[in-house]
Amino acid sequence: MAELANCPWCHGLFMKGPAAICRDCVKQEEDDFQTVYSFVRQKKNRTATVPDIVRETGVEEYKIREFVKAKRLHPTQFPGLAYSCEKCGTDIKDGRMCESCTGELKEGVQKQEKMKQAAQKGKKEDLGQVTYYSVKGNNR
Ligand SMILES: [Zn+2]
Ligand SMILES: [Zn+2]
Repeated sequence: MAELANCPWCHGLFMKGPAAICRDCVKQEEDDFQTVYSFVRQKKNRTATVPDIVRETGVEEYKIREFVKAKRLHPTQFPGLAYSCEKCGTDIKDGRMCESCTGELKEGVQKQEKMKQAAQKGKKEDLGQVTYYSVKGNNR
């Protein structure tokens, strides 16, 4: 049975198939990709940034970022390109998140691990050493 879904790009109804967007948008995306690709392929545009491409081709920024993210346009090949960090939206060229968000995430995970370990131990040895000095600390 065919399933109707809303296209996330144009919000029109379409028959859900192998693509996550409707046929019109697939075609539109393909056109846009060709436009962007033939622009950035020119030698003088090799180092164009995403805003440059938006200005020159009229293709929407989020689409260009999607192409980069999907590795259809490679930042190694076109060093001006980037896509958005999933967390803070800053420009990145690799992975899913920028360095600081990746770091934060790692720290968070480590903190959680520590808390888990401490909880498992069920003892206060870790905290004991750290909190000794905090009582007098605020007097000037
Ligand atoms: Zn659509
Ligand atoms: Zn980030």
